[in-house]
Amino acid sequence: MSATILNFINGKVVQSRGARTSPVFNPATGEQSGTLGLASAEDVRSAVVAARAAFPAWADTPPLRRARILNRFLRLLEDRIDELAQIITAEHGKILSDAKGEIQRGMEVVEFATGAPHLLKGEITENVGTRVDSHSLRQPLGVVAGITPFNFPVMVPMWMFPVALACGNTFVLKPSERDPSASLILAKWLEEAGLPRGVFNVVHGDKEAVDALITHPDVAAVSFVGSTPIARYIYETATRHDKRCQALGGAKNHMIIMPDANMDQAVDALMGAAYGSAGERCMAISVAVPIGDTTAESLIQKLAPKVRALNIGPGSDPDAEMGPLVTKQHLDKVRAYIDAGAAEGAILVVDGREFKRQGYENGNFIGGTLFDRVTTDMKIYREEIFGPVLAIVRANSYDDAAGMINKHEFGNGTAIFTRDGDAAREFAHQIQVGMVGINVPIPVPMAFHSFGGWKASLFGDHHMHGSEGVRFYTKLKTITTRWPTGIRAGAEFVMPTMS
Ligand code: NAD
Repeated sequence: MSATILNFINGKVVQSRGARTSPVFNPATGEQSGTLGLASAEDVRSAVVAARAAFPAWADTPPLRRARILNRFLRLLEDRIDELAQIITAEHGKILSDAKGEIQRGMEVVEFATGAPHLLKGEITENVGTRVDSHSLRQPLGVVAGITPFNFPVMVPMWMFPVALACGNTFVLKPSERDPSASLILAKWLEEAGLPRGVFNVVHGDKEAVDALITHPDVAAVSFVGSTPIARYIYETATRHDKRCQALGGAKNHMIIMPDANMDQAVDALMGAAYGSAGERCMAISVAVPIGDTTAESLIQKLAPKVRALNIGPGSDPDAEMGPLVTKQHLDKVRAYIDAGAAEGAILVVDGREFKRQGYENGNFIGGTLFDRVTTDMKIYREEIFGPVLAIVRANSYDDAAGMINKHEFGNGTAIFTRDGDAAREFAHQIQVGMVGINVPIPVPMAFHSFGGWKASLFGDHHMHGSEGVRFYTKLKTITTRWPTGIRAGAEFVMPTMS
């Protein structure tokens, strides 16, 4: 049976007024599990109206009270993590333990946001002039919007709204149309935790809803995560409409394996980082760069059998290490990249194209794929594949490897595996990438640090969550105070100075 997936506006679950719909599938079986009503511009306007009406009271609610609501929300998430993980797996396809992992990382942002009373403390200077004091404070922006991708239907929205709400903003979320159900559950649980009506709203939809949101005069800021062409479009359109915007885009993350690296550790790290979540992670490692042919041979010798032995199955199978891809279209796209890599002359060490899982023949399954002797002019090197496909690009030296990373269009994450402290320090210092791992393959910063890439992986000035998140969702006000005893008689017409 195919359920209808609804919007959440002003505390109510409501149907989209638009006539268009979009099917939602179970990626493991290929069956349609739901129908999504795509929001019209009018639906988006009602969500913004609700969020705007809720803003003054929410902004005036003491931060401690806002934090207490987030604390109750956190407890609901803890108690119901299994239920939410199943919803993610049913629409995204990732294995249940990975779905729980993404919820956990999202919950850590909620934990961070419950520190709102501390995070919003301002600064004060006594006597900036004689008997003159200055203090600065951070105030919320108003209605803010979040537009999120399919690959983390819980964690990515939770990079945004806990911090936005803690800072006193109201929120309109436009989740991915491919796995939309989890966002509605989050809205209901926020309400159950005591969030007032209209403070958090969800509108489902595609470009029509997004365009209505990023051009609406009452939306003060837009947070976006998704592919680079759309990130660039969102950033350009939102800023042209006078909004603050952070738009995180795609990635091509390299991992350098130095000759002195512990090869077993590097191979295990690559298995998780390249094939976990079927490579549908913006921090997945998609390029391995062994230094020297001896390192490359030893890497392939240990890695290839593990890639062949990957246990691939439905996300609900507790033994599965990797689930299906999100949609048939995405499966076709990933296959086409493998075809292109083979045609361009890369060596296909492990070919996942023929993989079938018995009993799930209509699922979007593909096997782990490993290419060797990929070169930097090949399409499979230049473009983001977003599937379980790892490219080995051999480099002669550390300098060649670092130069290659620095030249790449994307700069989201990167890693080096080495025991050489000097090389590691040099790497951290000079690499043109936003998130760097030293013997850590997926260096996703914790909630109290900030997440974001460089170059075509992020448009805007602020990374997400942590102190950058607080800065993004607030504006600074500085107040200068002088009391009557400090005021001299007579008008002053020169610029006030200390002299
Ligand atoms: P996507 O760009 O297709 O979609 C992201 C969002 O944009 C969705 O909500 C979608 O409805 C909306 N959208 C799509 N086309 C649009 C259009 N023409 N106009 C307006 N809105 C549009 O991305 P996706 O396939 O859902 O997610 C995968 C991508 O997200 C990958 O490129 C991945 O690297 C990236 N990603 C990046 C990060 C990061 O932190 N940098 C994190 C997660 C995912």
